[in-house]
Amino acid sequence: MRRPVLLPHLIVAALMVAAFLATQMRLDGDSRPRGDLEDLAALAARDDLNVLFVLVDTLRADHLGAYGYARPTSPRIDALAETGIRFEDHLAQSSWTKTSMSSIWTSLYPQHVGVLRSTDVISPEADLPAETLRRAGFRTVGLWRNGWVAPNFGFGQGFESYVTPRPGRPPEGFRRENPGFRLVGNDFDIVTSFDELLRTSGDGRWFVYAHMMDVHQYATDEESALFGPTYLDAYDNAIHFTDRAVDALLDLLEARDLRDRTLVVLASDHGEAFGEHGFEGHARDLHAEVTRTPWILSLPFRLDPGIVIDAPSENVDVWPTVFDLLGIELDAPIDGRSLAPEIRTALARAGGAPEDAGPRAPHPPRTRIAHLDRHWARAEVAPLHAVALTTDRHRLFYYPGRTDLYDRERDPAERANLAERDPETAAALRQTVEDYLASEPVWSGGVPQVELDDMQLGQLRALGYVVEGGR
Ligand SMILES: [Zn+2]
Repeated sequence: MRRPVLLPHLIVAALMVAAFLATQMRLDGDSRPRGDLEDLAALAARDDLNVLFVLVDTLRADHLGAYGYARPTSPRIDALAETGIRFEDHLAQSSWTKTSMSSIWTSLYPQHVGVLRSTDVISPEADLPAETLRRAGFRTVGLWRNGWVAPNFGFGQGFESYVTPRPGRPPEGFRRENPGFRLVGNDFDIVTSFDELLRTSGDGRWFVYAHMMDVHQYATDEESALFGPTYLDAYDNAIHFTDRAVDALLDLLEARDLRDRTLVVLASDHGEAFGEHGFEGHARDLHAEVTRTPWILSLPFRLDPGIVIDAPSENVDVWPTVFDLLGIELDAPIDGRSLAPEIRTALARAGGAPEDAGPRAPHPPRTRIAHLDRHWARAEVAPLHAVALTTDRHRLFYYPGRTDLYDRERDPAERANLAERDPETAAALRQTVEDYLASEPVWSGGVPQVELDDMQLGQLRALGYVVEGGR
C-alpha cells in the first residue's frame, strides 16, 4: 500500500534534482563573476563595455516564466532575470511597432515624437542612442527584420551598419503559424550576423541592436513545438523558439569571453491580444495584454540573487537608465527617467547594507502614457487617438467621446469600467490626456513624411498589417 503513495514523491524529488542540476548547468555556462553595488557604481568608469540591445517584437511580459507564467516558455530569458535586474511593473508606449520603437529610441511619449502614422519619420533633429554611443566610440550595428523600423522611417540614425540579415538555412521542422504574417528567414539569421560581427570587430567596443521577429510571426521548429494546437499555443512555442535564439546570442558572447564585458538589455515594443478585449494581434487598442512588456537588464557581472524593481517603469526609461549606468550624459529633452537610483537601492538591500539604501519609502507617484492613432494606416483621414494613462491606482482609456477607467490592483485584466462610478477621477485623468494630446512634437522642423512606395506597401502587407481599408 505504501508504494503508490511513495512513488509520486520520488518522481517529484527526482524532478526537483533535475531542475536544480539544470539551473547549476546554466550558471556554470555563465562565466561572469559575481558582482555587487560597488561593481554597479564602477560601470560608469569602465571603458571596455559593449551593449547588446535585444528587442523581442510582440512579447507580452505575462507569457514569460520570469513574470509568473506557468508554462516553461522562456528558461533562458528567465535565467537572465534571475541573475540580473527585472522590472516588474513595466509598460510599452504603444501597441504598434513604429510608434512604440520611436518612443524607445527617443525616450519621448508618442505625441512628443510625432511618429503616429505609416508615413511619419523620426526627425533627423533627434539624437538617438546609436548616435550618442557612436560619438562615445562604439561601433554601432542594427540587425532588424521588421519593415516598420526601416531606415527611411529614420531608425537608422547613428548606425554605421543597419541591415536585415541574409536568410540562412532554417532549423529542422521550422514553420510559421501566423497566417497573416510571413517573413523571409528567422531570428537565428540575426545570430549568424552577430557571430560574423564579433569575428571582425577586434577589441573595439560595440553597440548591437538585435530586433527579433519570430514571436511576431509565431515561428517554431521541432524542438520548440511544445504546447499544442491553438493560436495561443503557437505563440508560446514561438517564445520558446526565440528564447533559444536569445540564448545563442549569449553563447557567442561566452565563446569570445565577452560576457563580463557586455551589458545586455532585453525589452519589447508591445504584446499580443488573444480576444481579451475583442481583438486578436496588436496595433488596435492599448489594454494590458498589448502594452505590458518585459524589461530585463543583464549586467557584465552576475547578481546572486537577481533583483526585481517594483517601481513603475516604461520603455521611455530604458535608455536614460542604461546611459546613467554607463556614465553617459544625455542632454536631449525626454519624458523618461533613469531607474538607476531604484537599482542602487535594491542592490544595497540585497547586499545586506540597508544603511546605504536609506529608509524604505514608497516610490513617488507617476503617470505613464501609451498612445495609438487607430487610423495609423490611413494617411487620408483624420487621426483617431486612443491613449492609456496609467497612474499608481488607475488605468484610464481615452477615446473620442468615451472614457474607460479601471482599478489596477483589483482589476488588472481591465474588465470592470468604473468611469460612471467614479466620474471625478475619470474627468481629471481625461483632462491630463487632453493636455497631452494638445502638446506638440519637440522638433522645430516638424515631423518629416515619407511616401511609401509599392514595394514597401507590399512588404508591409506581407508583415501582416492592413495598410488600406482602415482596419
Ligand atoms: Zn512590433
